[in-house]
Amino acid sequence: MTDGSMIELKDAGFRWPGRGAFALTVPEFFVERGETVLLLGESGSGKSTLLSMICGTILADVGTVAVDGVDLKTLSGWSRDRFRAEQIGVVFQQFNLLPFGSVADNILLPLRFAPGRRKRCAAPKQRAAELCQLLGLPDGITASKAANLSVGQQQRVAVARALIGEPPILIADEPTSSLDELAQSNFLDLMFDQVAAQGSSLLMVSHDPQLGERFDRVVRMTDIVTIERQAA
Ligand code: ADP
Ligand code: MG
Repeated sequence: MTDGSMIELKDAGFRWPGRGAFALTVPEFFVERGETVLLLGESGSGKSTLLSMICGTILADVGTVAVDGVDLKTLSGWSRDRFRAEQIGVVFQQFNLLPFGSVADNILLPLRFAPGRRKRCAAPKQRAAELCQLLGLPDGITASKAANLSVGQQQRVAVARALIGEPPILIADEPTSSLDELAQSNFLDLMFDQVAAQGSSLLMVSHDPQLGERFDRVVRMTDIVTIERQAA
């Protein structure tokens, strides 16, 4: 680990409350600037929980989670949301699209909260349409309601939303699971193009070890995380 890490966890722990509680501890994990890391782990191994800690949608109960040198627990809820919008383009496993918003509304949403990303995007609407095209979505789809799209199409919209405005960090939670082979390879090309052009860091989670070849580093959950499950 160096001082300049883009993402850095130190003795970070989080416990989901409730019956059958699941607790996760990360002694040390980091992603450097411009580095691409594939995180592999079985279903239920805490991958999405770990990404939520890094995105600051959940806060570590103990230890440190720092993004671009900022300890997330020092930010208020509101400034953490802003900080995430600026720093991280994220594709959640459940996409999290606004169902009644248009495709364009959804893709452009992060720019509203992130002036830095907005500035990197000279013509946002054109860029949104271009990203849709690059991801193999049909022409004119930007006006459609997100709720009317197929699952595969929604996933691509979530990907376009992550890429718009070229955030310094890209995080993707099993982003290729509902994409066919062509869309999957276009998506990975787009991610890696952005990494190459902007020096963005990429952290992607998957259970598919075959994707590993393209990444600087492949990390297994079992090597960085200890988990504890209570009987339900
Ligand atoms: P993965 O992404 O590797 O499949 P998750 O991080 O989604 O793993 O889930 C790990 C465990 O964390 C789950 O088995 C569950 O016990 C717990 N968990 C995940 N999300 C929640 C939640 N929203 N509320 C309560 N427990 C949760
Ligand atoms: Mg998951």
